Amino acid sequence: MTYTDEMSKIILTSINARYSHTNLALLYLETAMSLKTDDCICQTIEWDINRPAHELLEKLAESGGSCFVFSAYIWNSVYLKTLLPDLGRLLPDAVICTGGPEAVHNKPDWLKVSGLDFILDGNAEDFAAELCRLQKPAEASVIRKQPSCFSSTVFPYTEDSLRQFKGRIIYYEASRGCMFNCSYCLSSVDNSPVEYRTAEQIISEISLLSRFRGTVKFVDRTFNARPAVSRLIWRHMASNPPAGCFHFELHPSLLQDEDFRLIESLKASSAQFEIGIQSTNENVLRKVNRTDKPVESFKNIARIIEMKKFHVHLDQIIGLPGDCPAAAAESIDRILSLRPDVFQPGFLKIIPGTPLAAEALSLGIISSTAPPYEVLQTPSYSFLQLSRFKRIARLINLLYNSGFYQHSLPVIINKTGGWYRLFSKLLEPEPSLSRTGWEYWGQMLFEIAEATQPGASVIKDLLRFDWCFYAKAQRYPAYIDYENTDEIYRKKTVACRKIGSLHPEIRKSELKRSIIFIPESEEPVNPADRAYLFVRTAGKLQKFPIEKNIRHSYCDSSPQQL
Ligand code: SF4
Repeated sequence: MTYTDEMSKIILTSINARYSHTNLALLYLETAMSLKTDDCICQTIEWDINRPAHELLEKLAESGGSCFVFSAYIWNSVYLKTLLPDLGRLLPDAVICTGGPEAVHNKPDWLKVSGLDFILDGNAEDFAAELCRLQKPAEASVIRKQPSCFSSTVFPYTEDSLRQFKGRIIYYEASRGCMFNCSYCLSSVDNSPVEYRTAEQIISEISLLSRFRGTVKFVDRTFNARPAVSRLIWRHMASNPPAGCFHFELHPSLLQDEDFRLIESLKASSAQFEIGIQSTNENVLRKVNRTDKPVESFKNIARIIEMKKFHVHLDQIIGLPGDCPAAAAESIDRILSLRPDVFQPGFLKIIPGTPLAAEALSLGIISSTAPPYEVLQTPSYSFLQLSRFKRIARLINLLYNSGFYQHSLPVIINKTGGWYRLFSKLLEPEPSLSRTGWEYWGQMLFEIAEATQPGASVIKDLLRFDWCFYAKAQRYPAYIDYENTDEIYRKKTVACRKIGSLHPEIRKSELKRSIIFIPESEEPVNPADRAYLFVRTAGKLQKFPIEKNIRHSYCDSSPQQL
């Protein structure tokens, strides 16, 4: 490697999966460069893969940079591999480098990418001093750096930079590395011990992050792996609630009573939790070296969900060694029975560099050669069976995660015999999965419920009730509309008059656009067991309880906040 003493301009380019995401590694590098080097200028360009590559190329070409640094991940790998050859041709004298797991664990492939000069193998911030002195090499090579001590890494946020990230997600790590060895994960490759920030660093850093109004995502691989650290953070959050929300990835079976006491003491919505269940089948978990106790985990996840204070996101991985359609179906049913806020079934990725990638062929697992290297076939899943689970994952998004049918869906599930059975019924005949509207899927659910139990008015009531939360219109879709519409809308007129007189702040036009809900079923189901007028005022939905048989007298006056 050769160096030059000339001043150079380094362009750090963060290509994120979405506009809202940010790149912690490049932020560390930018911070380290601002402190360690005074012989070069550093500029960061924030980008995302949803923006055209030629626009980024234009920005890079006019930046005046002599050295360009990227970070390669599974989500931007294809994008980068298209961009780099063009950048290399446009700026043949510039030095082009990339770090990031996708390049570091797939070196032979990346060294062949035209335009690329160096793969940076190590922690981004450790390259700060030498980046400005790199010269164009004759051929691409790897620069490897032994990681420096994590607690000596400079915290990259300031009051100013937090303002600059307004409306986006920022990332923080209190620890680096993972103590577990799941065979499908790149974190299992690094055998060095998990490193932690000191208690003083953590307290001072999260004190600043608490002022950020958006989401602060802790990228600690297992946030609660060392209780002394997670409890320190939760204790601090309890007495100094963040202005936004702190996001943690938990290992649920490690949680103890003390953790629940601390979590319970946090301000509602100041934390959210993501938990990778991956499979409810112990045999499957064992085969990928995943240390978990499903029974304990389920009990602990249920404890957090029951607090009803925090958003809980659960994940599953379909296609793991030993997993099969029946086991995946059981996982779906059991995970959804916990009623998380979001459930995301994903598909196994055979990521180059992982232990599983080394044995995938011998296990009979076929995966895509292109990122994200998703599984195509296993001894237990044909390609078509996996494709069917993809459609089920889409249905989970449309019907469950959307929250559109939160009152009707659980009752429909009881009548149809479980979540997986309902999704299977919805796939026959093939529905239009590109449709996202309430009405289309509401009708599908209604028809399935009708076929299972004809004339079940409780389902109609619950679908109507759900519609009221969603609808901007004052009428119901035809398949759930009332038969005696004239009588119902006469009652609405009376209710509007009464509520208008009790709440003069509500405009006539808002009352006109309101929708009335009157349950018909003999089998009332809470909370759709009484009548309401739903009124949208300045974008906010209010629900006024009314008498079911409202005529001329009425009714409770105060709205129920939604
Ligand atoms: S999946 Fe999570 S727990 Fe398992 S090795 Fe990777 S980071 Fe660690």
